[in-house]
Amino acid sequence: MERIILHCDCNNFYASVESLFNPKLRGRPFAVAGDPDQRHGIVLAKNYEAKRYGVKTGNPLWLAKQLCPDIIFVPPHFDLYMNFSQTIRNIYYEYTDRVEPYGMDECWLDVTGCVPAFDGGKMIADELRERIKRELGITISAGVSFNKVFAKLASDYKKPDATTVIPYESFREFVWPLPVGDLLFVGRATARIFERKCIRTIGDLANTSRETLKSWLGKWGEVLWLYANGYDSTPVARFGSQPEIKSIGNSTTLPRDLTELEEVKITFMVLSESVAARLRKHGFQCETVQISIRGTDLSWIERQGKLEAPSCDSTSIYKKALELFIKNWVPGKPIRSLGVRGCNLSSRQVCQLSLMKSVQQIQRREKIEEVLDGLRFRFGNKIVVRGTMLADKSLSDMDPQTDYPHLVLSTVHSQI
Ligand SMILES: [Mg+2]
Repeated sequence: MERIILHCDCNNFYASVESLFNPKLRGRPFAVAGDPDQRHGIVLAKNYEAKRYGVKTGNPLWLAKQLCPDIIFVPPHFDLYMNFSQTIRNIYYEYTDRVEPYGMDECWLDVTGCVPAFDGGKMIADELRERIKRELGITISAGVSFNKVFAKLASDYKKPDATTVIPYESFREFVWPLPVGDLLFVGRATARIFERKCIRTIGDLANTSRETLKSWLGKWGEVLWLYANGYDSTPVARFGSQPEIKSIGNSTTLPRDLTELEEVKITFMVLSESVAARLRKHGFQCETVQISIRGTDLSWIERQGKLEAPSCDSTSIYKKALELFIKNWVPGKPIRSLGVRGCNLSSRQVCQLSLMKSVQQIQRREKIEEVLDGLRFRFGNKIVVRGTMLADKSLSDMDPQTDYPHLVLSTVHSQI
């Protein structure tokens, strides 16, 4: 049965909410600034007036000011955005229980079975647009298609306050001429690889052989090939459902028995980095960190502890792992293997910035690590190595073993 998937995206979400509460901002260029100390702040969101001057999300404020001298900066009110986000999701839940948030201001809705035919998807999308505009005063862009990837592409296609439909019958005509970078998950690094290979459009990608893509990008290449050809069958998560993966862990049997704390630290860092990278890859954060230690006498322990806040940042995971180790292992007792695992997973809310300073710090580190993920993806794992790891080459060259490769394989596709 053909699915009917909607993707709804609030237009300029933070800025739209701000201008509702501050009518003086309407019609004037303004940006929500990420840091009250404006010398270091960046643009978190801008309205269309500021966009017209070339102001972009992520611009430092001095640059935004240079591009648009009249720009007004306002501080963010995340609690307010959260309230709006929840209210909008509640409206979606009136139509279906299959609502999957993607960040704070975007959601997928599976409305298959809620309307008699595919055309009904557009009717729901138009109704949602009108309702949210009328009831909350902000506009959304909606995409309707037969899978999540194309629904997202459709909602990006026309903004603001528009519905775009990509039906199965004509998806090739619609999607294939678009730039390859428009496809969900083709990030800048992947787009650059494609550019070198002369793959400019989604159609170019779709018409490259699956094997070739696999040889360039590994498993990920195959996934993108499926997406470009309309074969995305990932379900829209049901309300309140938990991720299928329960935990993500890596462990390693060491090149030699360890007795020194410094060596243990390096090993935990390598393991934590790979666990954190895999969490990010699947869009998860973990609340609990678990370590396992096997001694040379085959003694074995497993201990776990909670993080201050759910995270996919390697430093937070590393610190917790080390803390657990120090508490639970006799100093100097020789170690044969070590493992780190992230448990109690939840979907990562990328845009859900916290007001807590410590959480903000973690989120900043997560952002940096994401950039590093991109570098490693492009140039290989050894392109960025922590200073601590250079201390011992045999340990930093370790290739951590993934405990549950079969789980990862089966979920790469379902956790988009
Ligand atoms: Mg948006």
